[in-house]
Amino acid sequence: MDHFTYRNFDLCCEQVSLRSLAADIGTPAYVYSKAALLESYRAYDDAFAEVPHVVCYSIKANANLGVLATLARAGAGADIVSGGELFRALRAGFPPSRIIFSGVGKTRDEMRDALEAEILMFNVESLSELRTLDEVARELGVRAPVALRVNPDVDPQTHPYIATGLKTSKFGIPFAQALEAYEEAASLKGVEVVGADMHIGSQLTKAAPFADAVARLASLVKALRERAIAIRTVDVGGGLGIRHREETPPTHREYAMALLPALRELGVTVLLEPGRSIVGNAGVLLTRVLYRKDTGNKKFVVIDAAMNDLIRPPLYDSYHEVRPVSEARLGGPTEKVDVVGPICESGDFLAKDRELARTEEGDLLAVMSAGAYGFAMASNYNTRPRAAEVLVDGNRYTIVRRRETYEDLVAGETTP
Ligand SMILES: *Cc1c(COP(=O)(O)O)cnc(C)c1O
Repeated sequence: MDHFTYRNFDLCCEQVSLRSLAADIGTPAYVYSKAALLESYRAYDDAFAEVPHVVCYSIKANANLGVLATLARAGAGADIVSGGELFRALRAGFPPSRIIFSGVGKTRDEMRDALEAEILMFNVESLSELRTLDEVARELGVRAPVALRVNPDVDPQTHPYIATGLKTSKFGIPFAQALEAYEEAASLKGVEVVGADMHIGSQLTKAAPFADAVARLASLVKALRERAIAIRTVDVGGGLGIRHREETPPTHREYAMALLPALRELGVTVLLEPGRSIVGNAGVLLTRVLYRKDTGNKKFVVIDAAMNDLIRPPLYDSYHEVRPVSEARLGGPTEKVDVVGPICESGDFLAKDRELARTEEGDLLAVMSAGAYGFAMASNYNTRPRAAEVLVDGNRYTIVRRRETYEDLVAGETTP
């Protein structure tokens, strides 16, 4: 179901009008739909119902405590990639027994904190990391539960910056070295081998690369079992894409159908690490038109949101639909424009050469599909306070992060 629709001539998030929200809290603001969040989480949960599984939401996609607590209460686990994310996950109420720690560069301090919290497991990405984790765990007198992240070397057919499962990627242990790495892991006193892990990339719009990668992982699990290395969990990572425009990513069910044949046979607990596909289409960036500009060659719409709020268009060439909040604009004339922010960079755009309903100064626009890697990647570049974040539930909303103030921006700085 779409939770961003026009009602009474205004674009709404669930039953809250984005116009009234903007009047209450100002712009730019990120607006998330609680129903949309829960729907995508439950779609995963249902699609994998026939096998033991944990859906570990990848916190980096959107780490707001309000979003996290919503998912934690619904029963989700968490996939973290830093000590900061461990802190957030615990603060939001995820039980440590459902937290997985991924990432190529975990520090000793981060490892210690996660071991003391007794998280579910570490996804280990190199032999050096494995040896360090073994040492840290022995110092604490515990055994670290580990899965090795194996790089299955499949092409996810996505943007090169978000492809992670190729041979040339910094992520994971090369498939050809995996058996040997597992044998070393099994010999260490400070670690306990429990699983196998992969994550091949992000915004995948086809199921085949997932199926190919899982098949490779399944063959590895069998080879490990022959060597008496028991694998109880298989983590299939995240990466399922969302629809921005013409993409037709697999549904949760189609995704599950592609993976389950190989997984069912292994009799393992399946771990999932979705990020974007849980929050991406559950959020919009609400912004106001400041100015219009026509250079003779090109028309620009200057808005009050910028690349510091949403960097995905210049960073990944990503397409975000831009909708007028006023439905009346949709019936009017259209024009080809660049939608740009106030930042002093030519890369500061949200849409280029886009045929849009003509908008006037003061109009509100919604940048769609901005719930993932939106606020999470926001910065204070140009000393711009980061936007407010709002979580809508039916006809009510909560400001889950207040807009930053100028004082927030200099807190922690001193002059010598
Ligand atoms: C980023 C990441 C994810 C989530 O990816 P999405 O494309 O947002 O689903 C999952 N696992 C790992 C290890 C990641 O780095």
